[in-house]
Parts: sequence; C-alpha cells; structure tokens
Amino acid sequence: MTSAGRFAPSPSGELHVGNLRTAILAWLFARSTGRPFLMRVEDLDRARAGAEAEQLRDLAAIGVDWDGDIVRQTGRGPLYAAAIDRLSASGMTYECFCTRREIQEAPSAPHAPQGAYPGTCRNLTEAEREQKRAARPAALRLRSNVREATVQDVLHGSYTGVVDDFVLRRNDGVTAYNLAVVVDDAEQGVGQVVRGDDLLPSTPRQAYLASLLNMPAPEYAHVPLVVNATGARLAKRDGAVTLADLARAGVGVDEVRDALLASLGLPAGPLYGVLAHFDPLTLPREPWVWPGPGPRGA
Ligand code: GLU
Repeated sequence: MTSAGRFAPSPSGELHVGNLRTAILAWLFARSTGRPFLMRVEDLDRARAGAEAEQLRDLAAIGVDWDGDIVRQTGRGPLYAAAIDRLSASGMTYECFCTRREIQEAPSAPHAPQGAYPGTCRNLTEAEREQKRAARPAALRLRSNVREATVQDVLHGSYTGVVDDFVLRRNDGVTAYNLAVVVDDAEQGVGQVVRGDDLLPSTPRQAYLASLLNMPAPEYAHVPLVVNATGARLAKRDGAVTLADLARAGVGVDEVRDALLASLGLPAGPLYGVLAHFDPLTLPREPWVWPGPGPRGA
C-alpha cells in the first residue's frame, strides 16, 4: 500500500487561514503523489468542545477531503502505553520530578544546547526516586543516547537539531505530543508529513524516537507559516482570520481558497483542478503575510 499523507489539527479552536493553508499544502502533497490522505484529531491536550466539528466543517468547505475514518488520539492510549513500555523495557526512559521552574533555574550542563532538559533526574537512585514519588507524580522522559539528530526535509534539505531527554508522558498521565505523533504516523502508515515549519525543531527528536522504536521515519516537508503585518505567526487576535470571520466580512470560502492558492503561486479553483499545477520545489520558502479580508471587508 502507498504510504499516506495526513493533516493532524489540534481541536483547540477554529482553524485560521494559516492552518487552512497548511492543510491545503498537506492535501496537495499527498494527492499529487497518489497517497491516501488521513485526518487525525490531536485531542490529547488543549481540546475545546465543538472545535473538532468546526475544523472538519471548514476543511471540507475549502475542498480538503480525506480517506477513511477520522482518528482521535484520545482513543489510542493503549498504543502509546505499549510504545512507552517497549522503551522502558530497554532502559530508555526515566522518571522526572522537576517542576517547570526547577528546569528553568537548573544550571544547564556544559555544552548543552539552549532549551534542552538539564538532566536533573537522569541519574537519581531508586531511593531518591522513592522519596520524590511521595511528593509529586513523575513525568516520564526519554533517556536519549544522542544530543542531536539530522532529518531530511523536502523544503529545508538536511536539518540538524537538538535531541534532549524530552518528555514522553506528562506527570498528569497525558501522553506527550512527540511520542503520540511518532506512534500514530507509524501505526497509520503515514509516509509523508507536511506541517508548519514551527515544528521543524521538534522533528529530530521525533525521527530519533522512531528509530528507537524501529519505526520508519516519514518524509518531511515543513512549510512556511502565515504571519501578520508585524511578522508574528498569525493568531485569532489578528482580526478576521477564520472562515466564519471572513464570511461575516463578506469574503466567501471560494475567495479565501483562491487567495491561499494564489499565495502558493497556484491557479484559482477547486483543489482537484489545481493538482496538476502543484510542484513542491517551486513553493515559496518565505512566510506569507496575511493581507486581511481585503477591500470588501475593510
Ligand atoms: N497537532 C499539531 C498542530 O496542530 C500538528 C502536529 C503535526 O502535524 O505533526 O500544531
């Protein structure tokens, strides 16, 4: 079977035009290479009631269709637990009792990259762990054997980034994104990951984790984000940025779709008609500045 592409939104609110543009790109990458396109709702964290339905409605409205049933991460706890158990059985995890503040204030290890976990709990004795467990539930971290890893990205080429002892399971028991995404992509047969380039720095961690679990790492394409007039990542507070906002400002869904396609150098029209024009290598490499709803809405 051909490996799949996917879109994996977090149902924390309505999608904005930046999210929709990334979804269109993921769809174009998958459909233009004859892959199935899967929809996975990443609802382990930050889920807001009703957001999933709004997101799926907006994706469908813009022309993004998907194959098979929608997968929700909250239904997949046993898969994540099994992967964590495999890592633990080979000594690749450890309990961490640090608070966020302790991590921030810990002296970082010499030569440790910025933002990397300083390793405070890596070598606790069993007696120390026992004592700490009484005070605070533990998170589970990866006992990484490397400090960095390199991935290949269709748009960024060879990319090397930090691999630290990142969290696999939070101390409230919720599976961490980096573990869930690796397990899900492998288990769902995803061979092509197209997503916003804000996630590029997490990718070496994910590829390393996949290798530890003997799971194939997918092909990656990290696409530029949509930004506001000040160059910051687009957010809801930037005005009319969702399909519902834009409809109220007099901009219809087809117009939004066509504006997003134009920003990618692609012709207007329904997405299936655009497929033949799609060439990943000619995509813009810079963030796109959202021009706002335009004269009709201003
Ligand atoms: N759920 C993540 C987000 O909405 C995307 C994760 C991914 O595509 O790997 O930012």
